[in-house]
Amino acid sequence: MSMRALDVLIVGGGLHGLSAALHLARAGKRVTVLERSWVGRHASGASAAGVRTLNRPLVELPISLEAMDMWHKIEMIVGNDCGFNAGGQVRVAEDAKDLSVLERRFATVQGAGYHHEELVDRAELLRLVPAISPHCVGALVARRDGAADPHRTLLAFRRAAEAAGVSINEQCGVTAIERAGSDWRVRTEGRDFVAPVIVNAAGAWAGEIASMLGDNIPLGLKASMMMVTERVAPLLNPVVGVAGRPLSFKQSGQGTLVIGGGLQGRADIKTQRSFVDFDELAKGARAAVDLFPCIRFVRIVRTWAGMEAKTEDHQPVIGASPNGNGVFHAFGFSGHGFQLVPVVGAILADLILHDRTSRPIEAFSAKRLMKREAAA
Ligand SMILES: Cc1cc2nc3c(=O)[nH]c(=O)nc-3n(C[C@H](O)[C@H](O)[C@H](O)COP(=O)(O)OP(=O)(O)OC[C@H]3O[C@@H](n4cnc5c(N)ncnc54)[C@H](O)[C@@H]3O)c2cc1C
Repeated sequence: MSMRALDVLIVGGGLHGLSAALHLARAGKRVTVLERSWVGRHASGASAAGVRTLNRPLVELPISLEAMDMWHKIEMIVGNDCGFNAGGQVRVAEDAKDLSVLERRFATVQGAGYHHEELVDRAELLRLVPAISPHCVGALVARRDGAADPHRTLLAFRRAAEAAGVSINEQCGVTAIERAGSDWRVRTEGRDFVAPVIVNAAGAWAGEIASMLGDNIPLGLKASMMMVTERVAPLLNPVVGVAGRPLSFKQSGQGTLVIGGGLQGRADIKTQRSFVDFDELAKGARAAVDLFPCIRFVRIVRTWAGMEAKTEDHQPVIGASPNGNGVFHAFGFSGHGFQLVPVVGAILADLILHDRTSRPIEAFSAKRLMKREAAA
């Protein structure tokens, strides 16, 4: 391959890197993905894979709803259903106070012109989730939501990207980036790569990559934890969350219960390792048993933590770099980026191919996070 045989280099082989690669390759771009470990090693492989529009911030709703339409035809996009089950997502209220929080959310969403969320009473909640504790009083529901299988999703996006001509290089960590005329030279532990365009989809390490490209973007870190139980008989179809508690609860196709909700473990960015905090995790187990008393003797068989970048306002960074010509960022998904995967790749392809996108992404500019630094 000659030095100039590449149009776009993507740093990071998580789902966002793969999705951008897929959309760009289908539009005729020659794309290479550089992944330090292996595809799906970090957040994308650790994800709960909830496909949720329910309770998303209003600024995310336009792209999240478009992503949801894409999930409903995901097989047409990547040639595999990714294990997506549109069983709905339900946000439960345990008492009148929490119900009033859900009522306010419902009014806000309706007021903004969105109708994907629905307020349901206790009877409908019990119909949707018969195993739920009878003390629950109502819920917000998004019936087209659901969950996918993160590993099937990774494999599907990888295969589709490779079929479109994307070259994926694993064990290929980026160590430095410098300008080479109007191009970028990307140094890895092995060979160098040169391309005019770079996509930064490096997850928890995206801040490091951004600073190599001239952008100083302050980022935090999330280390969300998950636990999985032994298999049980069919218990529920929707994904269940609760107002005011860290819980996301669902049953996989294999019958295991998959329990998360954003409880935080610990992550070490330098050694690229994350750790489970069992005292914290116990809070999630407690919440699960409070909501589903019938599972109190079910055994937990596996736990883990995954890591990714978190921004100050918990909104991602999606868009062109303020300082680096030909650089595009997609990171900082702050614990809810799985659902957005199909649409963010399409947005990056818009920006790289046409210099603009019709999708509303102003709220996701890198600049909003860099302001304080510029003012200092
Ligand atoms: C436990 C957990 C549960 C979650 N649950 C949900 C959910 O239910 N719903 C939802 O919407 N979202 C959820 N998320 C969030 C979602 O999984 C992430 O937002 C999404 O997977 C991020 O994908 P990514 O490609 O940006 O990052 P990653 O998958 O982390 O990919 C980034 C990649 O960049 C690579 N990299 C880093 N530095 C370099 C370098 N220097 N050179 C080369 N490669 C590099 C890394 O090795 C990594 O593979 C969850 C996350 C976690 C951790």
